[in-house]
Amino acid sequence: MPIFSSHSDDEDGAEPVPGNLLGGRFSQEDTDELSLRPRRLGEYIGQPKIKENLGITLAAARMRNESIDHILLHGPPGLGKTSLAGVIANEMGASFRTTSGPAIERPGDLVAILTNLESGSVLFIDEIHRLNRLAEEFLYPAMEDFEMDLVLGKGPSARTVKVPLPRFTLIGATTRAGLLTNPLRDRFGVVHYFDFYAPEDLHRIITRSAEILNVPIEDGGASQIARRSRGTPRIANRLLKRVRDFAQVRADGVITPEVADAALRMQGVDDLGLDDFDRRFLSTIIEKFDGGPVGVETIAATLQEERDTIEDVYEPYLMQLGFLNRTPRGRMATRGAYEHLRLPYRPNDKQPPLL
Ligand code: ADP
Repeated sequence: MPIFSSHSDDEDGAEPVPGNLLGGRFSQEDTDELSLRPRRLGEYIGQPKIKENLGITLAAARMRNESIDHILLHGPPGLGKTSLAGVIANEMGASFRTTSGPAIERPGDLVAILTNLESGSVLFIDEIHRLNRLAEEFLYPAMEDFEMDLVLGKGPSARTVKVPLPRFTLIGATTRAGLLTNPLRDRFGVVHYFDFYAPEDLHRIITRSAEILNVPIEDGGASQIARRSRGTPRIANRLLKRVRDFAQVRADGVITPEVADAALRMQGVDDLGLDDFDRRFLSTIIEKFDGGPVGVETIAATLQEERDTIEDVYEPYLMQLGFLNRTPRGRMATRGAYEHLRLPYRPNDKQPPLL
């Protein structure tokens, strides 16, 4: 059971159940995220390359009094894509409309959204790689020429009319740029790739969030949480709230390094930020499949988790740590993974020698 699901352990006073850190796509705590979202570029911490480029794009658009080019934001969940889209709209003084690929079921849904946009507004489509193909085709002329081809009537008397649209900026977010079709990808003028955040940036994010939430936190406490947040602001904020609860119930409310460490241990979050699911994932590859290579479908079936969640949510960080290799023959645990889990390293003969 995900520890961060909307089912709250706090409500019934029970001990939190160790589980997976990233599970439960939406939770009560995520609604609190709204108050923690940065609104202006100055409040947006980290991602220096993106901010610098964006600063120039925004300044140039303001000087020319134009709306900005369509932007594609690419990177793992929780790294600040939605927040950045909102920041861009705020910086442009534009209205902000959000939707997501799976929410647009039919082309008609998209037509309704596009025809109702105000001129100059920012339309954010999350998980744009999951947009229905027919809807996607409506998007091409809308993005390129700010018009839409509508077919009126049926059969031989059907005719196509071009409907003009207000100028808008589309910001698409995706965890899988590889799944985007080429025509769609080509229509974005700018593509920004999100990196995991450095511990110093997460430290600043945690300190800022603690201030907003009115939680007393020591520098060392923030560092403990930052180190164990998997480079991800959303997780940093979630862990902060968990540690806050612990500090209130088991200590005097202040997040010291010791309190943070004890709280995170109790949540099953280890020194590197791995949770129960990460460890089960790696130990399954090692113990059930001899370290790999093993297909992701097989792992997903063994762990009873969706393949997409494994690929989008868990694997990027394990690869970044160097614990997992994705090879054409399947996933392989690296020596580092064995060592982290304190398992004896026994490479099998299907594995290339590791240096
Ligand atoms: P994504 O859209 O990539 O899944 P979000 O934009 O929803 O990520 O970010 C999740 C949460 O993390 C936000 O609510 C916000 O509180 C926090 N966050 C993300 N990026 C930053 C940042 N650069 N600075 C401060 N907080 C951030």
